[in-house]
Amino acid sequence: MKDKRLYSPKYIRELLDRYGFAFSKQLGQNFLIDGNIVRNIVKKAGINKDDYVLEIGPGIGTLTEELALHSKKVVAVEIDKSLLPILDETLAEYDNVEIVHGDILKVDIEKLIDERLGGGPVKVVANLPYYVTTPIIAMLIEKDLNIDSITVMIQKEVADRVAAEPGTKQYGSLTVFVNFYCHVETLLSVPKTVFMPRPKVDSAVIKLDLKKTIDDVDKKLFFKVVRTAFNQRRKTILNSLTSAQLHVDKEMVKQILEECNIPLNERAENLKIEDFIKISKRLTSLNIY
Ligand code: SAM
Repeated sequence: MKDKRLYSPKYIRELLDRYGFAFSKQLGQNFLIDGNIVRNIVKKAGINKDDYVLEIGPGIGTLTEELALHSKKVVAVEIDKSLLPILDETLAEYDNVEIVHGDILKVDIEKLIDERLGGGPVKVVANLPYYVTTPIIAMLIEKDLNIDSITVMIQKEVADRVAAEPGTKQYGSLTVFVNFYCHVETLLSVPKTVFMPRPKVDSAVIKLDLKKTIDDVDKKLFFKVVRTAFNQRRKTILNSLTSAQLHVDKEMVKQILEECNIPLNERAENLKIEDFIKISKRLTSLNIY
């Protein structure tokens, strides 16, 4: 096994200079330069030799290499064509790694899992490009793919919103959305200093374990209720839900909230996921949608 050094800043500089590679801010390119963090992510993601792993944005392959060492197979999707020859070099000795050139938001992931990842279930592991954190997480969760867990490095501020408890100012529609589908765990806080170049914000690693079963609520309506409630989070739940978007008048909202045992003057941030589910189910039973 080659001396592992993909996270050495000196090596990265030499490698990137040799290939004439320039970091793209637009593509969220902040590469890991700390071996401890790399090892910790893979360890805490619970990767073992039976696992099929999907990585998003391998960069020069730092995390990919650690994943290759601990899993059965890694497929890594990278959007930046100029990184492909670099990855060919850095991962040359691993026969359990496949690099796919493409945009993770456009790639047919279902096909990729079927054809290259043993049909799944797969574990997703990534140091995500921060400009598309939320769309990527939303897509992975909503598409009903054969995914077991998602372990990702993201901006600390977004991680705090995903893992927020009711009654806090970070608790919002993103929290409810992710927690509806997943069990959420914050694994690590990560300082700016472990990246090249350094990002402006601190980071955190979170793990999302996809729930095997989710509530049978009408999801479209449920998320509409959640978004409507948080759109005007300073208002009482009675007033925020009395909105043109939901097509129900104040009297009806009042009746629904009372039936759900939710105080009329409560704020959205104090409602649990189960409260939003109850409200949505009552609305469904009105047959107005
Ligand atoms: N995994 C590497 C590491 O930890 O050092 C690089 C992580 S860097 C934060 C994000 C990577 O995602 C970059 O390599 C970037 O080119 C790639 N990327 C950005 N947007 C992408 C997209 N839509 N689909 C796939 N890869 C993307």
